[in-house]
Amino acid sequence: ALRAQQYSCGRWELWRSDSESAHAVAREADRWAQRIHAGLKQEEFRLYYQPQLALDTGKVVGVEALVRWQQSDRLVPPAEFIPAAENNGSIVQLGEWVLDEACRQMAFWQREDMHCPRMAVNVSAHQLRGGIVDTVWRTLARHSLAPSQLEIELTESALLSDPAEAKAIAHELADLGVTLSLDDFGVGYSSFARLRSMPFKTVKIDHQFVSRMTADSYDYDLIRMLIDLAKKKQITTIAEGVEQPEQRELLSSLGCDAWQGYLCAPPLPAERITQFLRQPGV
Ligand code: C2E
Ligand code: CA
Ligand code: CA
Ligand code: CA
Repeated sequence: ALRAQQYSCGRWELWRSDSESAHAVAREADRWAQRIHAGLKQEEFRLYYQPQLALDTGKVVGVEALVRWQQSDRLVPPAEFIPAAENNGSIVQLGEWVLDEACRQMAFWQREDMHCPRMAVNVSAHQLRGGIVDTVWRTLARHSLAPSQLEIELTESALLSDPAEAKAIAHELADLGVTLSLDDFGVGYSSFARLRSMPFKTVKIDHQFVSRMTADSYDYDLIRMLIDLAKKKQITTIAEGVEQPEQRELLSSLGCDAWQGYLCAPPLPAERITQFLRQPGV
């Protein structure tokens, strides 16, 4: 009897501390959600844009929008708040802002008769379930953009929790005429399977593979296989994180379609990407 009592006492202690830490986690998530809502209201978020270039012609094929948070003392990178926003659900609201701002910028370039065929926007799993199809449709209409001017980048993790639902939503988006891109290819385990079952028009070769492709034959071969498969399936390939001329040359020799990376430009604020796009020949 004594042992049982000690045991249950121990369990009770354990339960109590678990529930206290669960409360602390929930409080922390609430604080984050409030800060993000306040940040949106005070217009503290900014979009930066990184150009994507065709490997054969060197022309701009699109730009990728990447969010930052301008706080009084510093520009906070997405790694510091996107995971929290995904956790507490405020990614849906933040994501709607990102989509609207990216489309507003695209509409501006269009009015100015500037060359930028496509805007790529990152979308999280939560947003897929948060009525994304309707949001995308309304946002494109608000800015008078064609669906083909928008590309939605999804990571594999966005598709994992409910693959059937994700697939249905992906097809609705594709039917709308928006193109889908599989981000961070090679980081997950079933990426090849994912390419087969989802309506992706583009696959993005992850930075990790690109950074090792000149030194590691495994990474080189993986990229070569992916590009060959993509070509057979009429899927466009974009290599990300290209930093060295040798990487770009190698990708070009393998028949990769496009690239982005510091070798061309880092993500740039709106005024600077606009200057970039105004250069002759882009
Ligand atoms: P990602 O979509 O894979 O974006 C590519 C990241 O690589 C960006 O980091 C970009 O700045 C960085 N990058 C670009 N060129 C180079 C290069 O040559 N070398 C290296 N080492 N890195 C390069 P960033 O902007 O910090 O974004 C990090 C991640 O945050 C993104 O990864 C994306 O998953 C997420 N993210 C950014 N903006 C959004 C957004 O609006 N919504 C959502 N849901 N996620 C976002
Ligand atoms: Ca991306
Ligand atoms: Ca990526
Ligand atoms: Ca990534």
